Amino acid sequence: MSGEFARYHRQMLLPGIGEPGQQRLQGSTALILGCGALGCLVADLLARAGVGRLRILDRDTIELTNLQRQVLFDERDVAESVPKAEAARRRIGQINSAVEVTAIVDDLNFRNIERHAAGADVLVDGLDNFEARYLANDFAVKHGIPYVYGGAVGTVGAALAILPHTPDGDAPWESLAGGSRATPCLRCVFEEPPPPGSTPTCDTVGVLGPAVTTIASFEASEALKVLTGNFDRVSRTLLNVDLWDNTIAQLDVDAAWSGGDCPCCRQRRFEFLDGTRGSGTTTLCGREAVQLTHRQGGSKLDLESIAAQLRHHGEVKASPFMLRADIVENGRPYRLSLFPDGRAIVHGTGESSVARSLYAKYIGN
Ligand SMILES: [Zn+2]
Repeated sequence: MSGEFARYHRQMLLPGIGEPGQQRLQGSTALILGCGALGCLVADLLARAGVGRLRILDRDTIELTNLQRQVLFDERDVAESVPKAEAARRRIGQINSAVEVTAIVDDLNFRNIERHAAGADVLVDGLDNFEARYLANDFAVKHGIPYVYGGAVGTVGAALAILPHTPDGDAPWESLAGGSRATPCLRCVFEEPPPPGSTPTCDTVGVLGPAVTTIASFEASEALKVLTGNFDRVSRTLLNVDLWDNTIAQLDVDAAWSGGDCPCCRQRRFEFLDGTRGSGTTTLCGREAVQLTHRQGGSKLDLESIAAQLRHHGEVKASPFMLRADIVENGRPYRLSLFPDGRAIVHGTGESSVARSLYAKYIGN
């Protein structure tokens, strides 16, 4: 076999793929939300499978403790503090140069999701917080775009493929010969996100690399089924695994839609997408960091001139991508990471009021 699809030969042998499936993959756009462990693995698998366009969205830069499980990054990325989305774009260019990769260094929120997700054929979850997941779910249901939810922490992981119900019932997965294959959405299954700080994080309980790999594999498989039009093969159960306790469960969630009154996919209220739910601050991993997005959307910040001012207060490192300042306030050390769009992460506190105050003090509003 020769030609542009030669490298995909072993994949094209699979049932339901062949050359037509490969062409569909080539014409597809996948949006990978978050490029931590899950996002790295999903991006790697989808790029190797020949998905034509990948958008990789992530707000963070690479740290040494990421390398245990975030397979697209290496020690040089840590030394250079490269944003994850950008490092992933570079690495994927070496893996499959035919894939068009867009790196989006941004935090997902209700103001920017329409822009970042427009035209995507599938959303794949590599997120680290539930507010963003409910936002992705709202977007997916509103626009009738498949969303693959996934999460892993400690030794456990969960995943669910969502083919949204649409008002007219005319999505491709709703008009199959055997009947509709639409599934419950995330809010059908878990109506409310857990309160901030109530769930374990990778920073508090750790994370087993293979647990993430398992969930990422499921997510990538479901995305490939969606993108090749194999909707009848999409999983209809919530997957739960614990690789340390050797348990795998597949929970039937169909009743969550048929017997429920989901605010999102039945009542079609998109509270996370319209901004009535969620805040401009998010408490991050381990409760010792707060992200501020409240001033996002304005003009770009001049990080160099801000760095010059902040040098009076502590140690400052600035690049075109971000500024990092170590500041001592009332005898307590804080680290402030500032991005050109005005988004900031304050390390050293779990209190949004303290974070906002430091932001106001050192960056201004
Ligand atoms: Zn629903």
